[in-house]
Formats: sequence, structure tokens, C-alpha cells
Amino acid sequence: MTTADVVICGAGISGISTAYHLAVRHGVKRVVLIDERPPLTLTSDKSSEAYRNWWPDAAMVRLMNRSLDWLERWARESGNQFLLNRRGYVYFTADEARVDQLMRSAQTISQLGAGELRIHRNRTTYYAPIDPHAFARHTPASRTGREGQPDGADLLLDRSLILERFPFLNPKVVAALHARRCGWFSGQQLGMYLLEQARAAGVELIADRVARISVKGNRVETVHLASGGSIDTRCFVNAAGPYLNHVSRLLGVDLPVINELHLKIALRDTLGVVPRHAPLMIWLDPQTLPWSAEERSDLAESAETRWLLDQLPDGAHLRPEGGGDSHIVLLLWAYHVQPREVIVPPPLDEFYPEVVVRGLSTMIPALRAYFGRASIALYDGGYYTRTPENRPLAGPLPIEGAYVCGAVSGYGLMAAGAMGELTAAHITQSGLPDYAAYFTLARYDDPVYQQLLKTWGNSGQL
Ligand SMILES: Cc1cc2nc3c(=O)[nH]c(=O)nc-3n(C[C@H](O)[C@H](O)[C@H](O)COP(=O)(O)OP(=O)(O)OC[C@H]3O[C@@H](n4cnc5c(N)ncnc54)[C@H](O)[C@@H]3O)c2cc1C
Repeated sequence: MTTADVVICGAGISGISTAYHLAVRHGVKRVVLIDERPPLTLTSDKSSEAYRNWWPDAAMVRLMNRSLDWLERWARESGNQFLLNRRGYVYFTADEARVDQLMRSAQTISQLGAGELRIHRNRTTYYAPIDPHAFARHTPASRTGREGQPDGADLLLDRSLILERFPFLNPKVVAALHARRCGWFSGQQLGMYLLEQARAAGVELIADRVARISVKGNRVETVHLASGGSIDTRCFVNAAGPYLNHVSRLLGVDLPVINELHLKIALRDTLGVVPRHAPLMIWLDPQTLPWSAEERSDLAESAETRWLLDQLPDGAHLRPEGGGDSHIVLLLWAYHVQPREVIVPPPLDEFYPEVVVRGLSTMIPALRAYFGRASIALYDGGYYTRTPENRPLAGPLPIEGAYVCGAVSGYGLMAAGAMGELTAAHITQSGLPDYAAYFTLARYDDPVYQQLLKTWGNSGQL
């Protein structure tokens, strides 16, 4: 093909969802997806594939609610080919001093549109700000069911109720926040489902690298490929994941994004420490790792290992992976993240598997059985490509006919439905949602927004 209506660089989940929305929903005829790798194999298959509408930012709550509408719709349409569940995310703390803050932030997120907050002070009642007279028990998450599940979140403040629901937990726990429009799915299967439909609607996938882009009179003209081919087009979408800025610079546009390396391990939980029906579980307290006295003195000896004795941040999390006879549990903890150059495959920190197992033993003490002898089925990682405030980029670039869909950080799979829809709406100039302006590059031109960025709070990223 030497001409196309739209050329998309990147067949990760962002590019595929954009292609799907353009071809399947808007009927755009000649859409070409270009990727130098097989689809979904750079970042989109490194994810822990979880989703949530629970974000401390009104714009993100709206984007995610919309995106989850798409996920739920695709699950219904496909007979749930991509195994969407709704187990929830549960955030735990053992620190009394954090409970008020947890409650206040939950109230704020609820008011931003993430759904009702139900506060369970004891085993039989809850106080709901919306309906103060209502009484109900905390409903445990369904293992596989999605329909008819509660929305919003349940804040459990009764230790005995928390331990009844999660008997394997650290008994010092004092609060648990169970966010309900959350769970996980197979990102690979979702991506392939969308790609198949896009291809059936005429999208062409080309294995090549976008090497250069000709611009004439500030308008996109031709996309040049590493193989020597070229495609004339009036519309180019940059969905290049961690190479977002690299590809943007081919257009002479610099994007305010950085890349952070995030790692994960798949542990063989042969002792069955983490129940297979568990939700995604997050430990909210910073912590120092449990080491024996002998280990501590060994680690203290070298500058390379001394940091392992320091306090490490909050946010260690895990979830069971796979159905039936699977023993796999995914463990993640972003205790060291700085902006980095992209190296593929990424360098893996030799300490990470042991550190993440020890860190999560603070939440689930029986994980101690794996200290020094964890059997790791998979250890990999990828890049969170993110803006300073962690909102994504979807919309036009300052070159006419050029668009971006990316900077989706640690939430690109869950956001894909709405991000592809939003990018396609910009391209086809059809009915932008009212949240569109929060995600354009042009937001950074607004001095008020620049001021806001200086005092930006928690981005809610795990
Ligand atoms: C450890 C980890 C855990 C995560 N957990 C979650 C989670 O629980 N939930 C969630 O929603 N998200 C999660 N994420 C984030 C999610 O994986 C990403 O946000 C998402 O995959 C990004 O998709 P993308 O399509 O923008 O980029 P990518 O998947 O990286 O796709 C970009 C594509 O562009 C191609 N490309 C780049 N440059 C060129 C070029 N010049 N020519 C041709 N092709 C090019 C690349 O080959 C690549 O295939 C996680 C990420 C990591 C690393």
C-alpha cells in the first residue's frame, strides 16, 4: 500500500485500540498499523493486566469509567474471551495513623465519580454517606462473576471482619479498602480480539519500522519505513509506547514524557499461601524488610546492599494468576523508579525477586516460607511511559494530521478502550467527550495548568 487514510505507528494495545475504533466504529477504510515487532510484545504483554476506576483525579476517573464500559461491553460481545473478572483491588494498612487519611482519600475518590463509599465500622452495619440509614454487610468479591457486582468501595475498619475475609493476612491489619469496579483480564486476548475485528474491518498490519516522516507546510505527508517503502497519508498516529518521544521527534515535536522501568515476578506458590480466589492486594505502608540478624550484618557490609536495610516505600502488591490448577501469583513493587533510557530487553535487578517476596510477606506472613528459596516462573519488566502528572496523551500534535495516543504509564491496558476511542474521535472530528481537553498535549500551553502541576498531589499510580 502506498497511500493510507491513517497510518498508526505501534501495534501495542494503544495502537490496536485506535485502529479498532477508527475501522470498526467509524468505518475509516484504509488504516495501516505498523510495528517492527509482533503485535502486543513490547510493553503490552509485560503488564499485570489489572484494571480499576479508583483514581485520585476526576479526569482519570471519567476516562477509566468510560474505558471500563468498553471492557465490559467487549466482554459481553465476545463471550468473555479475555477472562475479565471483577475481584476488586484491596488496599490494606496496619498503621492506625493512616486510617483517617485512607478514609478521607476514599471519600474524595468516591465523590470524583468512582462510586459509593460504604464504611463498615463493625460486622453488621455500614455507614454510607449517600444513604446514612442503610445497613448491609460487606459482600465478598465473586471469583469469576462480573454482572451485578457492587460499585464504589467498601472501607472495612473492623479487624475481625477483615481477618474473616482475609484470614491469611498480617493480623496487625487495621483497615482494608476494597475498591469494587476493579479486577483483571488477559491483555493479550483482549488485544487479539480487537486486532481481529480491526483486520476484519480492513486494517492492514505491516511488520516494519517507522524511520522518518516527511512534513510539508506543517502537514504530515509521507511515512517512510526502514525497509525502504513509504506511505503517503494525511493522518499519522504515534502510539509507539516507550518510543513515544523518539517517534514524536521524527516530527520535530518534543513530548513531556519519561520512561520508568517496572518489574514483576511470577511466583510458583506451591504451598498455596495465596488463595486462588484472592483479589488484587496492596500493602499501603512503607516498611523495612524482614532480615535475620546475620543477614542484616552481611548486607550492611557492602555499599551495594546496604540500601536493603533502609525503609522502602508503600505499594507492594500481588494477585493470583491463571485458573484451575495454576499456582502462579504475580508480585510487583516499584521501590526504585527513576527516569531511564529505554533498553530492550530491560536490565533486571538481581535483588528484585527476593525483595518483593520479603516485602509482601509483611502483608501475607506465610510468604516467609519462600525466603531464599522462591521458585520464580517468570521475571520480566517493561517501561511506564508517563507525563509529569501521570495523565495520558490522546489527541492532536502541533503538526497538522499528526496525533498521539500513549503515555499510558502503568494503566495502558485498562485505559485502552477510552484512549483509542478518544484518539479516533479527534481524528474523525466526531463528538469529543467533555474530558478530552485533559488529555491533549495542548493542556501544557495553559499557564494555569502549569501552575497546577507544581502542586500536583498523589498520581494514584501503583
Ligand atoms: C510491570 C508492568 C505492569 C503493568 N501493569 C498494568 C496493569 O495492571 N494494568 C494496566 O492497564 N497496565 C499495566 N501496565 C502498563 C501497560 O502494560 C502499558 O501502559 C501498555 O502496555 C502500553 O501500551 P502501548 O500500546 O502504549 O505501548 P507498547 O505496548 O509498548 O506498544 C508500542 C509499540 O510501538 C512499536 N514501535 C515503537 N517505535 C516504533 C517504530 N519506530 N516503528 C514501528 N513500531 C514502533 C513497538 O514495537 C511496540 O510494539 C503495566 C506495565 C508494566 C511494565
